[in-house]
Amino acid sequence: MSLTKTVEPIGNGLSDAVLNADRQYVMRTYGRLPVEFVRGSGARLYDASGREYLDFLAGISVNSVGHCHPRIVEAVTRQVATLMHTSNLYYSRPCTELARKLCATSGMEKAFFCNSGTEANEAAIKIARKHGKLSSGQKTRILTATGSFHGRTYGALSATAQSKYQDPFAPIVPGFSYVAHNDVYALQAEFGDDVCGIMLEPILGESGVFPTSKEFMRAARDLCSQTGALLIFDEVQTGMARTGKWWAFQHGDVVPDVMTSAKALGGGLPIGACLARGAAAETLVPGDHGSTFAGNLVAASSAIAVQDVIESEHLLENATRVGAYLMRRATVGDSAALITEVRGKGLMLGLQLARPIARELVTASLARGLVINAVGDSIIRLLPPLVIHEDDVDEAFDKMENAARELGG
Ligand SMILES: *Cc1c(COP(=O)(O)O)cnc(C)c1O
Repeated sequence: MSLTKTVEPIGNGLSDAVLNADRQYVMRTYGRLPVEFVRGSGARLYDASGREYLDFLAGISVNSVGHCHPRIVEAVTRQVATLMHTSNLYYSRPCTELARKLCATSGMEKAFFCNSGTEANEAAIKIARKHGKLSSGQKTRILTATGSFHGRTYGALSATAQSKYQDPFAPIVPGFSYVAHNDVYALQAEFGDDVCGIMLEPILGESGVFPTSKEFMRAARDLCSQTGALLIFDEVQTGMARTGKWWAFQHGDVVPDVMTSAKALGGGLPIGACLARGAAAETLVPGDHGSTFAGNLVAASSAIAVQDVIESEHLLENATRVGAYLMRRATVGDSAALITEVRGKGLMLGLQLARPIARELVTASLARGLVINAVGDSIIRLLPPLVIHEDDVDEAFDKMENAARELGG
């Protein structure tokens, strides 16, 4: 047996060795598509056989400034060669600088760092509970919206109002109640003096790109303000310029007390943040909460560079302009019959299909060199890097329309 046996790429550039090792040694928590990407640049990915793909998913809204942006690579490389980790027992210039920048774009006042979206939401939940207990009335209940997704750890999972994620792992954390998304009356009916927080995504991401209405956000704000409960916005997917504003809540006039971020925050490295203002920003004190890796110097340096790139390359404006172009493109050509509705903002878009072929379309598009995502049988989710241009949109739609034609329509 030779250890240097060459492996021939199969399908879209996936070696037998990787495929078999994945099957044998990796827990089957994901149904993977038949490709291994080995390199990336901007909005392009390359598989092991050198084939190029146009990336309209960006690692699920993570690589928002594109793959291997030179300024991210430079910031990470410099920090990794200088000092990687010290822990939160010591001061850190990257973390303080990142916190300052996040507060400046969001209007929040203080940041807590962690390593993922679910952890950012755990911090938000703990802040809401502790803040609620300190206020009058022993408030502990948290309201979230049906169809929401807040993460996989138990607190965030309990906030995620979808039985398919919760049922296998019951019993979940008590004290969460669910309200029909965008149903203001249901929200008002469910709310009470025992509620310590309402947690909402400005746009439901995982369940199919459904914007939360201005009226619903406003009602949540008013209820929280009346009793001193905290309004929490989960901006893990919608934040960091994805929708054409730094934070999606800035499209409206409702400001949360607590806001969470992750995904695009680190430009590809794992980092999350829970931001808060007012009393919520002062709720956690030494000993209350923490994380060994949180605020890792390399991830924080990367996150600072991401924000610099968003500013210097005008990616807020780009996301708005190209997103609007994409919405128009979805209504012409073959897409007019294929796509019945486009939802979302900026470059966080859901395409409602006329037929339940979303999963087949993902696979057929991949074979044509386009990376897109299905959320459900009839919804395609697009989360391209914010650096794409109009011609990338044209190329993506040409590929998707060809793929749909191949599927018979
Ligand atoms: C992805 C996501 C999360 C979970 O983030 P992880 O980093 O996977 O833990 C939470 N909330 C929203 C809205 C998300 O899109």
